[in-house]
Amino acid sequence: MALRNEPYKRQAALIKALAHPTRLQLLDILASDEACVCHLTAILKRRQPYISQQLMILREAGLVTDRKDGVMVYYRLADPTIADVVRATRGLLRTVGEAAAFPPIPTSPVEGCPCPHCGGEGPCT
Ligand SMILES: [Zn+2]
Repeated sequence: MALRNEPYKRQAALIKALAHPTRLQLLDILASDEACVCHLTAILKRRQPYISQQLMILREAGLVTDRKDGVMVYYRLADPTIADVVRATRGLLRTVGEAAAFPPIPTSPVEGCPCPHCGGEGPCT
């Protein structure tokens, strides 16, 4: 019997959704707490449409979910085990001999962020 290919294709599609520097940064930030688009934009200092696009890819892959709270939309990891996967791939970096120093995730309040977590009133503009 041939080894079925389909489950590997689905696994590869999921890894592909993970395999992007900005998306890994987003997952890293969301591993500590939920966040709205403007908060993620303020931390990563990228344009909001770009952050929204990366969040959409993560959401379509089932890696993040969102919830509405009034005018705010907060994103979070769909499951805490996703953070374990991200950490495991960092361990893999050491295994293959690459020393990488990851920066600490900024805590709230983040400068220039208008979100309620940072003391603002939102919404993300
Ligand atoms: Zn914020």
